[in-house]
Parts: sequence; structure tokens; C-alpha cells
Amino acid sequence: MEKRRLYMDYSATTPVKKEVLDAMMPYLTDYFGNASSFHTFGREAKSALDKAREQVASLVNAKPNEIYFTAGGTESDNWALEGVAFAHKDKGNHIITSKIEHHGILHTCEYLEKHHGFEITYLDVDGDGKIKLEDLEAAIKDNTILISIMFANNEIGTIQPIDEIAKIAKKHKVLFHTDAVQASGNVPVDVKALDVDLMSMSSHKIYGPKGIGALYIKTGTKLHTFVHGGAQERRRRAGTENIPSIVGYGKAAQMAKSNMENHVQTLTNLRAKLIKEILEKIPYTRVNGSMEDRLPGNVNFSFEFIEGEGILLMLDMLGIAASSGSACTSGSLDPSHVLMAIGLPHEIAHGSLRLTIGDFTTEDDIDYIIEKLPPVIERLRSMSPLYDQAMKNK
Ligand code: PLP
Repeated sequence: MEKRRLYMDYSATTPVKKEVLDAMMPYLTDYFGNASSFHTFGREAKSALDKAREQVASLVNAKPNEIYFTAGGTESDNWALEGVAFAHKDKGNHIITSKIEHHGILHTCEYLEKHHGFEITYLDVDGDGKIKLEDLEAAIKDNTILISIMFANNEIGTIQPIDEIAKIAKKHKVLFHTDAVQASGNVPVDVKALDVDLMSMSSHKIYGPKGIGALYIKTGTKLHTFVHGGAQERRRRAGTENIPSIVGYGKAAQMAKSNMENHVQTLTNLRAKLIKEILEKIPYTRVNGSMEDRLPGNVNFSFEFIEGEGILLMLDMLGIAASSGSACTSGSLDPSHVLMAIGLPHEIAHGSLRLTIGDFTTEDDIDYIIEKLPPVIERLRSMSPLYDQAMKNK
């Protein structure tokens, strides 16, 4: 019998939807022009670019000319931080972010700190992974030029009070950037209602191709260019536009918008079932992240007494692709900075498992993981001296 392949890592990346691929294909072959060219081929590419820009803008209620295509969420994060930092350094050198940001933010902040003399405040988060608004307000100083707080966390799914953060930023006349790579296209996001100044987005989290994303820049926001060269993207982001990927991103954005209600509802229901059944079936288990303000597709468990890597390995043998909360794949044995920031003890953070579901996840898939996970945890615990000790001490 062929091994079942079950993908539960949608926060890492999503498959490209067929409609998205179909939209892209002609732009790799017949309509391959350079959008800057004067001739018909160029104009065809340019009109595809304009349409995709409208589609991405519409997903987040931006104006099309506030959307700048980039090579993905990481570039958008780098551009937002460095672009604002360098353009506003006359006003100040202080930036506020949080301890649970993606490394696209954290490592850029470290770079600005180390090499350009910026001062960064990394806000703590509470047990659910939310920043405290009073901490944010207290951290703002005369020289604060930017607040960058992620919309939704990629590991534990917690959604921040973005509108409240934006209000505080406005009150103190500080620019506000949010990394919405996990949020935009997965939950409703409205840049105008939220009043953010800059927002990072990515295509491959919403069934579009990889290596393409966007930065929303509110009209009138001053920031430096990050990629220098030609006059593309209204002279703000150089490089021949990746038209096939941009077209795919536009199509994915359009589909995400029209499917939003169903996407949120379906995933929320599947997630609820998965959490309920696993908590019932597996003792010494906790769910990390907010239960109220959470990405619909995110589940993050900690199973006491065992290691996340063991779980991943055994699940992989069963054909189930998931992700752990530690950074072992990158050669370090440290548990994730996010799980540490929400206050999990090392040994509990180590036994963490992220299961992220998406538009191709079925009820049958949820039943499969609910059936397969408990014996995996039981088996690993049966080999764990920590578990043995804990049971003896009971
Ligand atoms: N920010 C967050 C919150 C993410 O989850 C990711 C990707 O996992 C990124 C940024 C980076 O996006 P990209 O993979 O498009 O560079």
C-alpha cells in the first residue's frame, strides 16, 4: 500500500493552487515580455503587473500604488526596517519591536543595532504571546522612529491587537510597521481601518508561488530604497519584475479574498476538533498561543517529557509533515525564541509540535492525525527517563 502523505505545515509554505498555476503559465511562455519594454510584449507584461497589483491591494484594502512587489516577506521586512531607519535617522535612532518576531525582523534589528548604532527595544509578551500595550507606550521615547510588531505569529498563531498598537503609534507620531506574512490572505486585514503605515506580505503562505511578496507603503511614508538599480516599482524597488510570480500572487490574493469567510470558518472548525481530541486523548499536553485571537490554521502543542524532534521523525515515518518548536534543524538545540518568550520552561518547550492546516486539509486528515499522534507520544514517553521519573513520583 502506498504511504499516505499528509501535509500539516501550511505555515511553512502552501502548495500553489491549480488556478494560480494556470494564471501564471502564459507569462512564462507566450507573454514573456519585460514590463519596462515599449513594445506590445512589454505592454502585455505591464498590464498583467497592474492587474496583480490591484488584486493584492484589494486583499488588504490598500490603493494599488501603495503596493510594492518584493522577493518575499523577508525582503519586505528588511526594507521596512532599514528603509525607515535610514530615512528618519535625523529624527531618532530608536526602534521598538517584540521578542517573538520572525527572524526577518529580529536579525535586521540586530544588524541595525550592531552596524548602524540604532537602539532597539524588544518588548516582552504575555503567556499567550501578546505584547502589553502599556509596555509599548512606556517604551516610546522622543527618539523613537518606528514600531514593528507582527500581525500574527508564525509559530503559535497569536494575533496581536494591531488596531490598538496603531493608535498608540499615531498618538506619539511614530511610524508603525506590521509583518503580516502569516495574516494577510489567511484572516481579514484592512490597512485603512487598522491605520498601519507599512505592512509585509508574502505569496507562498496563501497558495501562490515562493519568492514573491509585497510591502504596503502608505501614501506619503518616507523611506529609503532598499534594492538599487532601475526605475521599476515607481523607482522604489529596482529589478526586472518577476511577472509570472506576480501574476500568481495576484491570483492567489484574489482567491483568498473571495474565499475568506469559508477559509476562516472551515479551518477554525477543523482546528477546534483537533485541539479538543488531542487534549482529551493525550495527558500532560498544553496548547501554546491565544485561544481567542489565533490564526485559524494554527495548532501548537507541548507534550511534556519528550523531544519535538522525536515526534517529527515518527510522524514523518507515518507520512505526516509537521514542524517543531525548536531550532534543531539550524544546528542549535535551543528551543524556539517564541516559546521561551511566552514563558515555557526549556523542557516543555522542547516537546513542542506545530500542526498548521490549510485549504486542502480534510476532516479525514484531522481524523488521521488524531488516530496516529497519541501512540507516537505514548511510544516516545515509554522511552523517556523523565516520564518514568514523573510517573514514579506521582
Ligand atoms: N514573517 C513571518 C511571520 C513569516 O512567517 C515568514 C515566513 O515564514 C516570513 C516573514 C518570511 O517570508 P518569506 O518566506 O516570504 O521570505
